[in-house]
Amino acid sequence: MVEESCVFCRIIGGMETVSIVYEDDRVVAFMDIQPVTPGHTLIVSRDHYPTLFDLPRDLAAHCLDVARRLGPGIKKAAGVDALNLFSANGRAGGQDVEHFHFHMIPVRQASDFPLHLPLPDAPIPSRSALDVMAVRIGRAIQMTAEQGTRAGAGAGVAGGTAE
Ligand SMILES: [Zn+2]
Repeated sequence: MVEESCVFCRIIGGMETVSIVYEDDRVVAFMDIQPVTPGHTLIVSRDHYPTLFDLPRDLAAHCLDVARRLGPGIKKAAGVDALNLFSANGRAGGQDVEHFHFHMIPVRQASDFPLHLPLPDAPIPSRSALDVMAVRIGRAIQMTAEQGTRAGAGAGVAGGTAE
């Protein structure tokens, strides 16, 4: 599965220069061209899937396993104690290349990676508001799981009942 317009597909196909850290038959890890910190590594599925939620289950598990195995080496080489794993899924979330990838970002101090949760100004909702949202998500998970068992990957969230 290759998308001609996708820079990661071109990298994986050998059409772009890249500094490879690790590769196997399903995953390639290479240096981010514009690292947040030294050692910033991307873990990318070989096949083109837009987001984590489009990946087949075994490939998603393999990507996470590769991240887990490479992490200690990235930390050691970068000389840091912390390594943040980040994945944007969707343009609105800041996903620049619509081909699934994890960012592995070595962090020496808080200012290296300026996304620290909770955000200092974030309000704390009431318990009942959290409960309402938990129930809403629970229902939506059920609906999407029912759709997923029929259709495999897909972005469908709407709909209501499984047919
Ligand atoms: Zn691609």
